Amino acid sequence: MKTIAIIAHDGKKPEMVQFLNENRDILHSKQLKIIATGTTGSKTEAAGYEVEKLLSGPLGGDAQIAARIAEKKVDMVIFFRDPLDKHPHEPDIFMLMRLCDVHNVPLATNPATARLLIRGLE
Ligand code: PGA
Repeated sequence: MKTIAIIAHDGKKPEMVQFLNENRDILHSKQLKIIATGTTGSKTEAAGYEVEKLLSGPLGGDAQIAARIAEKKVDMVIFFRDPLDKHPHEPDIFMLMRLCDVHNVPLATNPATARLLIRGLE
């Protein structure tokens, strides 16, 4: 069973939902566990997926996912960042991305890369 972490900043949530809808076949056909930050998780649930929801990003959700990456409990991260907005939890965001590199966990930060990564599951 592989675990995918999903996070989307507010300006990127519509693209995340679109991504989930477009890749439903692959995401549903595999034995995947999805974890997500709070609001992203609610939207992922509304799109028809089972999700473990953590805290909202600004309240520590990114840090929770980062901790799971460090514990080797996450196999892939899809993180649609909004590079045009400011984020109060910027240090957590960098921590999460840094830990992906430390532990060699595939990380997609935009839809084009996420599509390629997801195809790797096929
Ligand atoms: P959210 O958090 O899914 O709770 O909006 C995402 C983030 O801002 O990192």
